[in-house]
Amino acid sequence: MQLETTAVHAGREDLVDLGVHAVPLDLSTTYPSRDSREEALRLDAFASGAQLPGAPIYGRLGNPTVARFESALAALEGLPAAVSFASGMAALSACLLAAVSSGRPHVVAVRPLYGTSDHLIASGLLGNQLTWADPDGVAAAIRPDTGLVIVETPANPTLSEIDLRALADACGSVPLLVDNTFATPVLQRPVECGASIVLHSATKFLGGHGDVLGGVVACDESYARVLRQIRIVTGGVLHPLAGYLLLRGLSTLPVRIKAQSANAGELARRLAAHPGVRRVHYPRLGGPLVAFEVEGDPHAVIAAVRLVTPAVSLGSVDTLIQHPASLSHRIVEEADRHGCGVSDQLLRMSVGLEDVDDLWDDLDSAVLAAISSGSRSVPAPAG
Ligand SMILES: *Cc1c(COP(=O)(O)O)cnc(C)c1O
Repeated sequence: MQLETTAVHAGREDLVDLGVHAVPLDLSTTYPSRDSREEALRLDAFASGAQLPGAPIYGRLGNPTVARFESALAALEGLPAAVSFASGMAALSACLLAAVSSGRPHVVAVRPLYGTSDHLIASGLLGNQLTWADPDGVAAAIRPDTGLVIVETPANPTLSEIDLRALADACGSVPLLVDNTFATPVLQRPVECGASIVLHSATKFLGGHGDVLGGVVACDESYARVLRQIRIVTGGVLHPLAGYLLLRGLSTLPVRIKAQSANAGELARRLAAHPGVRRVHYPRLGGPLVAFEVEGDPHAVIAAVRLVTPAVSLGSVDTLIQHPASLSHRIVEEADRHGCGVSDQLLRMSVGLEDVDDLWDDLDSAVLAAISSGSRSVPAPAG
């Protein structure tokens, strides 16, 4: 089946037999049973990380609505399983804990990454060690105790791209985790290039409407078992309503990504010719994100937009713009930010479904306003 068909039907295969059209939303925290001997055996199976049909016993062990979203996302990424979490950061935390608890706590990562991911990995909060590497240097950075290689492509916020096939070769038997939040399975399926773990901040394009927080990891069944075991004891589960909204979001994902990418490509082209724009970053892969460095004060652009939403995050049906040095990447040390191409002049825009000329009118005047606002570059941060 084609991706568009999978997006609409996956996770819903049994609905006709159930005699319903909308997916049942199960909000139960507990599941009554009169047979506690049988429940004890089921509990043992859940504790081993198995995904069981039927009642999950308790909401932290599993939820039928959430399981529908997981099976649909796994199908879209072309992987056997997916495990969801309360947020993208909870999903990444589980992957780090999996590496640490496997006795291979060393991580190799390529910058840039989303600011909080960078901070989590670099801080060693969860017990991991870290070596930063260029894509070409990953093979040399791998040690016998390396449990994970982590990359984003296109990366947040510069949209820099990595040759995943070459990188997967360089990783050998070490699992390669690709944060696919920006590309989504519509534009890129990392498993087809040899990656074994695909992570999403489901908060972004999978949800697609800015009203649900979630994270998900697509992978093989044995890694899924490990992640489920970690999720059971750490508790970062996806809420059933979030699972419902994310499954609904998946059904329009291909349509949204194509329309938003067409808008973004056109805006990238127009921005490249704008006198107030120093440089445009737009992935060869395409996609709904555009980053650009302005001549004037980037804060003035944020203050001047009227149609575009001045907000952190991305992936919604409306266009969002933010200043990475102030928001998404503020937690990364200034020198490290600059070292991986996140300049203080950079703005990151997630393009929505509005009419492209309406967007351009707003953007054009906001960037012009920034040139004439006087200050031509970002002042050094105070404090
Ligand atoms: C937002 C984001 C995350 C973190 O996801 P949350 O759902 O906010 O926890 C991770 N990776 C990328 C690329 C992101 O954009």
